[in-house]
Amino acid sequence: MNMEALTLDQAQHMLQKYYGYPDFREGQKHIVSSLLEQRDTLGIMPTGGGKSVCYQIPALLLPGLTLVVSPLISLMKDQVDALTTMGIAAAYINSTLSGKEVNDRIRAAKRGELKLLYVAPERLELDWFRDEMATLPISCVAVDEAHCVSQWGHDFRTSYLAVAPFVEGLPQRPIVAAFTATATPEVTDDMLRLLRLQEPQVFVTGLGRDNLAMSVLRGENKRDFVKSYISSNSHQPGIIYAATRKDVDDLYQRLSGAGIAVGRYHAGMSDHERAASQEGFLYDDIRVMVATNAFGMGIDKSNVRYVIHYNMPKNMEAYVQEAGRAGRDGEPSQCILLFSAQDIMTQKFLLEQNPLESERKHNDYRKLQQMVDYCYTTRCLRNAMLDYFGEEHTDEPCGICSSCTDERELIDMTVDAQKIFSCIHRMRERFGVSMVASVLKGSRNKKVLQYGFDSLSTYGAMANRTEKDISEIINVMASEGYLSLSEGQYPVLRLQPLAADVLKGQRQVMQRMVRPSASGSGTSA
Ligand code: ADP
Ligand code: ZN
Repeated sequence: MNMEALTLDQAQHMLQKYYGYPDFREGQKHIVSSLLEQRDTLGIMPTGGGKSVCYQIPALLLPGLTLVVSPLISLMKDQVDALTTMGIAAAYINSTLSGKEVNDRIRAAKRGELKLLYVAPERLELDWFRDEMATLPISCVAVDEAHCVSQWGHDFRTSYLAVAPFVEGLPQRPIVAAFTATATPEVTDDMLRLLRLQEPQVFVTGLGRDNLAMSVLRGENKRDFVKSYISSNSHQPGIIYAATRKDVDDLYQRLSGAGIAVGRYHAGMSDHERAASQEGFLYDDIRVMVATNAFGMGIDKSNVRYVIHYNMPKNMEAYVQEAGRAGRDGEPSQCILLFSAQDIMTQKFLLEQNPLESERKHNDYRKLQQMVDYCYTTRCLRNAMLDYFGEEHTDEPCGICSSCTDERELIDMTVDAQKIFSCIHRMRERFGVSMVASVLKGSRNKKVLQYGFDSLSTYGAMANRTEKDISEIINVMASEGYLSLSEGQYPVLRLQPLAADVLKGQRQVMQRMVRPSASGSGTSA
């Protein structure tokens, strides 16, 4: 393409003129600039991050037509309607149209009357359609929900594999812009490879939406928490994600029993029931949706004020995608994760159910551990999350997450940490969290005695705490990088270099943590 350099200023002008937004979000700027420079681009943003304008604005500035590949027929119509209302020349072609309608639209495109044309990926597999498209000046192919090209995800669509040959079959290769909310490295590799992006620029952005207050709550009575949270936010729409259908049904019963206008959604319900539930939620007849992760794909409800995770999800990608359904309108919203150690067991159980090849399983266990680390970290949750996804950020804490607002005082945990680390060392780094906790507690548990651990000098070294508290401290130490947990169903604790510094007295461990429980009333601060 031969044209004068397009600038971000021009793009911003279009944004104001057509959309009425004063400016791009930070992440959008990078993606839009990259497309204006006519580079292949992969944009990874959570749902609600504002992917659409990233290709719609360049479409207005680039010559000719932008072809948008979109998998959801219903969303296609909504998008095109929205664009048309704003005065942007757009149309869609899909199976709901008659042959004549399709021809009319293709003719309109040929006359240069369209800037954006939305199509389902299946179209790209049709010879006649490819021939027609080859006669159009297509300057950009925007691939929405690009993760559908990968078999790693849940949404694999064979027809996405037709995108690359389609692009290469055009007389002049357009730029390719791919978008997704799925940020796993495997899926990213697949998207780059299978869409055959050329010297692509990849942008991961928009994860730290500053209207979202992230919280992790450990040790809550989950049922009571949910009930009272809903009651005190009774006029607000919210989603509660639970791990299994059984949990969903259970919670649904309890909440509706308590007179709350709640709906439910999971894959075990009929299509009809699910559709009714979803409609009810969209139109605010149902205030609270209790659902498995089957709920959400393609749901565009902007005023969800909170997303509560009743259980820890299997990885950060899943978490961020689900939690990101809160606050799409930019208003302050809550993302609350209710964590219990049982959740780890559940996720491991689910992992074991999956007959996967070992490399992938390995990977899934690693991601699970990173999710657990997030649940135990005392760092700013937003920064921890951004680090996980490799998104650049300042070191400034967000000020609104549960770590930032934790008012418990920092206490010196160095001595406890030393006891834990030396106990792990004495147990030869061959045991998991609960066994180490039992030894530190001084438990008479059969396995402890069988291994002769009652003769270790660290046996009973933390007898003043409960085993649960000790386990919790160990998990916190693991999430802070003092310890590692091996992968697999029975992870083993190993000391990391940081722990050696603590043992040598070269590093102090400060934590907001469980104080000694049980004995004594001296903790009334
Ligand atoms: P996605 O496709 O990533 O889920 P959308 O493109 O639907 O997200 O955008 C999500 C919301 O953010 C929409 O309500 C949209 O109008 C709004 N939005 C997007 N970009 C901006 C912006 N630069 N300024 C203000 N609002 C924006
Ligand atoms: Zn924070």
